[in-house]
Amino acid sequence: MLNVKRVVIKVGTSVLLDKEKKISTDMVRNLAKQVKAIKDKGIESIIVSSGAIASGMETLGLKKKPKEIEKRQALASVGQIKLMKMYMDAFEKENLKIGQVLLTHEDIKSKSRCLNLMNTLNSLLSMNIVPVINENDALSFKEIRFGDNDNLSALIAQISNSDLLMLLSDVDGLCDKDPRKYPDACIISVVKKIDDKIEKLATGTRSEKSVGGMVSKLEAAKKAGCYGIPTRIVRGDIENIAWRVIKGENIGTLFQPEAKLARNKWWTAFAFKVKGKIWVDEGAEGALVHNGKSLLPSGITTVEGDFSRGECIELNNMSGQVIARGITNYSSSDINKIKGLKSVAIEKKLGYKYAEEIVHRDNMVII
Ligand code: GLU
Repeated sequence: MLNVKRVVIKVGTSVLLDKEKKISTDMVRNLAKQVKAIKDKGIESIIVSSGAIASGMETLGLKKKPKEIEKRQALASVGQIKLMKMYMDAFEKENLKIGQVLLTHEDIKSKSRCLNLMNTLNSLLSMNIVPVINENDALSFKEIRFGDNDNLSALIAQISNSDLLMLLSDVDGLCDKDPRKYPDACIISVVKKIDDKIEKLATGTRSEKSVGGMVSKLEAAKKAGCYGIPTRIVRGDIENIAWRVIKGENIGTLFQPEAKLARNKWWTAFAFKVKGKIWVDEGAEGALVHNGKSLLPSGITTVEGDFSRGECIELNNMSGQVIARGITNYSSSDINKIKGLKSVAIEKKLGYKYAEEIVHRDNMVII
């Protein structure tokens, strides 16, 4: 039995659709029953549910998801209410109340808004209300999007200090080969570390009505794992799945977590979108990874992307592996001018100097 007090359950659109590709009342009811079953055993659930756009398509009789972002936003606006009504009805049958929370990435990036979010989630749970979260698709555009709910659910698991992230999907788990090509493909039951080999196994599946695929699920598992939270990917239509997972049954794929990051490091690692990349030489890599040092201009070889001072960037080693994330003290154009130089040369070259370091250790997380 897993030691779980709070779980984030992410429900993909594909889990909610019936054979006619309509949001299935039975599936939503099944979910409500499961949440009730684990609640009776003292476990709190937070749901991250997709399905707004699919529900809007159904309401307006559309078969194909429109390409235009404005139309998708309009569909989500129509569909989200209907989706929530289904959730409300289904949960009421189990004597449970739900509370809707719609988010864009801006709400997590801003410390005060994220703090409000933490408080709201805690307060809903303390009032025995089940939070049902979705991306605020009606308002979000590229710059402020999470992009997919796998990613959002991992962030929610971290923000809410949950003990488990459960991704309910229409696949059985992560396979050792592409199951669409190889009928003898097997489910990998435990992944200890998400390395290159595991990432290669993830095949992006993008159907008409849902977003994401294994790629975004692995990203989510990685994020949750860095914060010490295990992730399990399972089929959403298996009977009693939530309780069975918590009981510790070996279904689907379990991604084991790594050590937990401190909360102050969490902001640097996850709250921001990555705006650019820097490549560092071997000397700098050793100093950052093994000696706890800051990044100085001398160790930088290449800069990619157009970013400003104060934005989040990734630091890569010479073989292209991401070794760290951090908040940069200098813009990409500044770094292009001072890369490879000693810190003393910064002011001479730029005419000003914010700091000796390009990324200070305190604003950096080694990945
Ligand atoms: N937020 C989208 C929706 O409700 C789905 C995003 C996703 O499935 O990842 O339709």
